Amino acid sequence: MKNKAIFLDRDGVINVERGYTHRLEDFVILPDLIEVLQLFQKKGYLLIIVSNQSGIAKKLYTQAEVEILHHYLVGELSKNNVALSEIYYCVHHSDVSRCICRKPDSLFVEKGLARFDIDAARSYFIGDKERDVEAGEKAGVKGILIEANISLKTILNQIK
Ligand SMILES: [Mg+2]
Ligand SMILES: [Zn+2]
Repeated sequence: MKNKAIFLDRDGVINVERGYTHRLEDFVILPDLIEVLQLFQKKGYLLIIVSNQSGIAKKLYTQAEVEILHHYLVGELSKNNVALSEIYYCVHHSDVSRCICRKPDSLFVEKGLARFDIDAARSYFIGDKERDVEAGEKAGVKGILIEANISLKTILNQIK
């Protein structure tokens, strides 16, 4: 049987949304996040982050700074036995360079589906913006729209 996955937006879902987060001291993992990810894993879901990081195209911060945040995140999660299959992020912005990986486009979701042999119909995309839901649904993944920075415990009842 194919795998199933939960795709997650980053800012506002994983860490506190504060606008163009790029400094490690501003990268605050949300309450309950780790516990909920552990639960998702226990239910058999792969975990994949799909994030728009247009701050790179806009030269507000560098890809190296983003990698530092992700290295920290992966470390904190692995201390708690949570493994991300992948962190996809779009470095573009349409004002600077066009692309097909920036949400609401679904390239990264489709890449994840193919690479990890995931059944879209049994998968979810959790995000705090309409474009997150759109990116998921274009690829056949059910979107769940949340308020930024809330506990993911509030949507547990929407995940099978
Ligand atoms: Mg967000
Ligand atoms: Zn892109």
